[in-house]
Amino acid sequence: QKAEWAKLVDEPTVSKDGHHVELAANIGTPKDLEGVKNNGGEGVGLYRTEFLYMGRDELPTEEEQYEAYKAVLEGMEGKPVVVRTLDIGGDKELPYLNLPKEMNPFLGYRAIRLCLDEQEIFRTQLRALLKASPYGNLKIMFPMISNLQEFRDAKAILEEEKKALQENGTDVADKIEVGIMVEIPSTAVMADVFAKEVDFFSIGTNDLIQYTMAADRMNERVSYLYQPYNPAILRLVKMVIDAAHKEGKWAGMCGEMAGDEIAVPILLGLGLDEFSMSATSILRARSQIHRLNQSDMKKLAEDVLKLDTNDEVIKAVEKAVSQV
Ligand code: PEP
Ligand code: MG
Repeated sequence: QKAEWAKLVDEPTVSKDGHHVELAANIGTPKDLEGVKNNGGEGVGLYRTEFLYMGRDELPTEEEQYEAYKAVLEGMEGKPVVVRTLDIGGDKELPYLNLPKEMNPFLGYRAIRLCLDEQEIFRTQLRALLKASPYGNLKIMFPMISNLQEFRDAKAILEEEKKALQENGTDVADKIEVGIMVEIPSTAVMADVFAKEVDFFSIGTNDLIQYTMAADRMNERVSYLYQPYNPAILRLVKMVIDAAHKEGKWAGMCGEMAGDEIAVPILLGLGLDEFSMSATSILRARSQIHRLNQSDMKKLAEDVLKLDTNDEVIKAVEKAVSQV
């Protein structure tokens, strides 16, 4: 099987009936690029920039960040690179920020909430990204967006920094797509409204499942409620993809679910455009997609959306997939 997958490294990702999708990788540092290349990643769908800020005593400088972003953009040689702005908080702490302890860190002061408040941290990161932008195909993504105002505010800050750099004579790419993570149910529900203003969506199922099911993604005692195939989740995913397409935008997914063997057939059927996963899952997913007909998976997706439970969905997918 490994040998068969290895042949797919330079192959496009096309279903049996000719439907193209993009398989991208999630990365945490520029060092991860080697794995992306060896596994045939068609882009980076999620660059988790938190690692630049973690395991140290102070914030990374603009220059340090610029070097890291430039390395990733150059390393990907013009393929798309979605960089997520700082998503700190929740399970990822930065001791040197001295933030007060919270009762519910996952529902608290984190990610875009912190960035819109501590604007110097955010602006420094955005400047580093903008300066690196001429070196590749950069797309910028904001995490934990829960309402439209947050997106508008974040985008306005980005535009301000871009204008200031350009006035200084700094080279910045002209077209940088700006999108959001859909990982909070309110945003999935309002996807039709967001779709008019964002350039793309990337569904963050790790958090979307946790917030939709109200089940902590790290707590084993409630892990039975953490149900990726619960029709509640699948309906939200469908809403997001349909809303994007209605406005001519693309929809990706960068949570664990994007590389999951049961989820991939459903997501293919729902019309997901980009699947971003750990690099080591890419060839397996490509091989799976090559064997599936998108038209059949569309039918499967319609069927599973009408089911009642997570387990029924798993059974239906297994049955459909065993027939190919
Ligand atoms: C997600 O929430 O699905 C996601 C990709 O982000 P993280 O796992 O970094 O929270
Ligand atoms: Mg998340």
